[in-house]
Amino acid sequence: MLNRITETLLMGPGPSTVTKSVLEALAQPTIGHLDPRFIDIMDNVKSMLRTVFETSNALTMPLSGTGSAGMEATFANLVEPGDRVLVLVNGVFGKRMQDVATRLGGEVTTVEFEWGTPVRPEQVQAALADQSFDVIAVVHAETSTGVGNPIDEIATLVQRTDALFVVDTVTSLGGIPVTVDAWKADAVYSGTQKCLSCPPGLAPFTLSDRARARLDRRTRPVPNWYLDLSLLTSYWEGAKRSYHHTAPINMIYALDRALENVLEEGLAAAHTRHREAHEQLAAGLPEIGLSLFVEPAFRLPMLNAVTVPDGVDEATVRKRLLEEFDIEIGAGLGPLAGKIWRIGLMGESARPHHVERLLDAMKTILQ
Ligand SMILES: *Cc1c(COP(=O)(O)O)cnc(C)c1O
Repeated sequence: MLNRITETLLMGPGPSTVTKSVLEALAQPTIGHLDPRFIDIMDNVKSMLRTVFETSNALTMPLSGTGSAGMEATFANLVEPGDRVLVLVNGVFGKRMQDVATRLGGEVTTVEFEWGTPVRPEQVQAALADQSFDVIAVVHAETSTGVGNPIDEIATLVQRTDALFVVDTVTSLGGIPVTVDAWKADAVYSGTQKCLSCPPGLAPFTLSDRARARLDRRTRPVPNWYLDLSLLTSYWEGAKRSYHHTAPINMIYALDRALENVLEEGLAAAHTRHREAHEQLAAGLPEIGLSLFVEPAFRLPMLNAVTVPDGVDEATVRKRLLEEFDIEIGAGLGPLAGKIWRIGLMGESARPHHVERLLDAMKTILQ
């Protein structure tokens, strides 16, 4: 079956096109998960993750599993039955946080916003005036709608409370600034297959010292053995590394290379490249009769929700893009299904020639 795989330009909501050097890193010989050479790679990955997360958190490492494993780990470690959790919801991933926290026995409250619009800080402030929370969670970049939430303002509000602050940065990391320490965020997770241009399979993760102290005070064991941070750190930290589960060695090679690529380019330069690719797309869409769905102030550079014009069958356009042009874009989800396309400009996909290729292909199809 593998002989049917051809290179596709990935311009959907993830995975993004993987950098060649990252694919080469994946193909390096597998070594043991306790081999000192591998431990050096782990340490290098932890250190680079601190740089991209803009944090000095000691507990910073990739978790085995995709971005959702980062979400699961966050709530499984920080929420005990009966804990009060506030989730700000304006799309699929906020909903997923609500689901995860509820399954763990959290007493979950949501403040919900129309999909395609941002979290409104004044409504968050009102919710915080009514009640206190143990954990407050928000998605930085809502990939289901292309909305960037006003994270600095939300962080300021959360800082006035005692709650732990959880931020999902799966889509934002590497594409727009993620400033964990400046937000005073306590648990932040991401994914490899969006703006880092690595295959899916790891969840970069960081936990504040304050959250770690809360974890140490838990009265019950973390209900998820695989993602129990108190066990995982025995493998990822300290002089003596002991086996917990076999690390996905080659995926960690890939992340090591992907992070080196980001740091070689420079975080600020990577953010600029994403913004410029977005501006190029935003300028080109009206020329082919298309427009962006989200208000300009809240548009994400790496995830562009494009309104499907009346009379156009959105699925046919996606099918033709894939079959005739080897380009993948995404469909709308939930209430936005059939109404938008989701065009990802993530990592390697955020390059001028790729944007041009997509615009040309869409023009041909829509004519
Ligand atoms: C993709 C995504 C996730 C889930 O990540 P998976 O790698 O699909 O498990 C979570 N949150 C956001 C904002 C995402 O974009």
